[in-house]
Amino acid sequence: LKVVSATPIDDENLSDEELRPSTLEGFIGQPRLKAQLALFLNAARKRDVAPDHILLAGPPGLGKTTLAMIVAKELDVPIRITSGPAIQHAGDLASILSSLEAGEVLFIDEIHRMPRAAEELLYIAMEDFRVDVMVGKGPGASSIPLTLPRFTVIGATTREGMLPSPLRARFGFTAHLDFYPHDELEKLVRRSAGVLGLALGEGAAKELSLRSRGTPRIANRLLRRVRDWAIVHDLGQANAKDVKAALALYQIDSEGLDRLDIAVLKAIVTSFNGGPVGLNNLAAMVGEESETVETVCEPYLVREGFMMRTPKGRVATDKAWRHLGLEPTKNVRE
Ligand code: ATP
Repeated sequence: LKVVSATPIDDENLSDEELRPSTLEGFIGQPRLKAQLALFLNAARKRDVAPDHILLAGPPGLGKTTLAMIVAKELDVPIRITSGPAIQHAGDLASILSSLEAGEVLFIDEIHRMPRAAEELLYIAMEDFRVDVMVGKGPGASSIPLTLPRFTVIGATTREGMLPSPLRARFGFTAHLDFYPHDELEKLVRRSAGVLGLALGEGAAKELSLRSRGTPRIANRLLRRVRDWAIVHDLGQANAKDVKAALALYQIDSEGLDRLDIAVLKAIVTSFNGGPVGLNNLAAMVGEESETVETVCEPYLVREGFMMRTPKGRVATDKAWRHLGLEPTKNVRE
């Protein structure tokens, strides 16, 4: 029996879509958030109104886009997807808003990265369901107030603190997504393996979940690499040792730390003697954007006890030193 699927390896984005659960029921983990959201959506359905605006906050890859799509599906309304950086001018947003249908969900990813003028326009639209559309140019330009149908904004952000408070206050429900515990990731890996047609042997899902940084997107990505391994090695199923071998090739270590995580820890430890070091220095040292280091690496490193954020900067913990195979030096770190 050939268990590895015979269908051609699809484009990664396509499989991202196929791995997306489409109902709240199918969304794995985050039980409290799911219960809150279910209540919130049920109430809106019963009252037959578009629900309040929703803010989803948390590190990348934990399922914010997936949840937004689920909300639209559960409410049986269309969804429009955009992002903060895609909205360059307030006018871009005005034209999206003025074309929304009643009840539609407007998903704005990275909502903290919208220009200030667009933010102002958005919170008026969210509160009063109206938008001022500019007609004409120059001195002859005038603004026409346009009444909008009720709609629901779902904002996603990795940096909730960067949202101006008037905008934050317009969201009736804020959900914080947190890293997934290993057992939930294990379930997710099993489900995704089923969708991809990859048979996993004893312990394989567990090994994968341990290396996924608590993040569904990473779990799915690593799973695809394991599938590649299984295909190339003609395996009927991938076992724990195959997972280890495949992921070692991609420089994912036993704690799920990847190349960038390790580079960050190494920089703190070797170049800054364990820290404290400021975010910008650290990012420059590893050749990454500060925002990437802050939103992608740090939350996980802090949570897993490899790094501390102090008022003076980032500090590597003893666990980090040991993970790098070094003895912690106590002298300089305060
Ligand atoms: P970003 O903030 O970068 O947009 P995100 O938090 O929106 O990331 P998604 O794109 O929703 O992340 O999720 C990434 C992938 O992980 C998706 O392919 C989705 O299938 C999967 N996924 C995320 N959360 C879950 C979950 N709870 N159950 C099952 N699959 C999930």
